[in-house]
Amino acid sequence: MEMSFDEKLEFGKIAEKEIESYFMNKDYNIIRSYDYVGDDNKSPKMFSKKINFVLPDLDISKNGKRFWVECKHYTHTPLNRKYNIYVHGIKKRHYNHYLNVQNETGNLIYLFIKEIEHNCILYAQLDQLKTYDCQCGRCNNNCLIYFNREDFKEIKNDN
Ligand SMILES: [Zn+2]
Repeated sequence: MEMSFDEKLEFGKIAEKEIESYFMNKDYNIIRSYDYVGDDNKSPKMFSKKINFVLPDLDISKNGKRFWVECKHYTHTPLNRKYNIYVHGIKKRHYNHYLNVQNETGNLIYLFIKEIEHNCILYAQLDQLKTYDCQCGRCNNNCLIYFNREDFKEIKNDN
């Protein structure tokens, strides 16, 4: 059954909450971008006269250090047969927006992935990840850009 927007939002928040807890336990300060979404339920954005970029999920800070975290969750980790690696993907359009947000704010973007099948959290600095193009042949902004699972670090469960 296709999930409604609200159901998807709720499901998406499960991973987000878990990643939030990770930072909470380390006494980081958290601003949830989705708390600043209007009634129209659009993605939270930063904008100026010239730009309009989708924001990562969390704005994290502590002691004068600040960075962005985009939270994703995937039930499993697909094998990409062309590249012969296990991959995770995000929308190409969002990838480009996040790198622009990093350039404009001067704060790094990290991608955090909750893997349901392995019950673990992976993370990497977005601009350090090697990218693998979609192979559909008619690529557009709705296509995904892929990353090698091995390029991520894993958060060790220390509780
Ligand atoms: Zn494509």
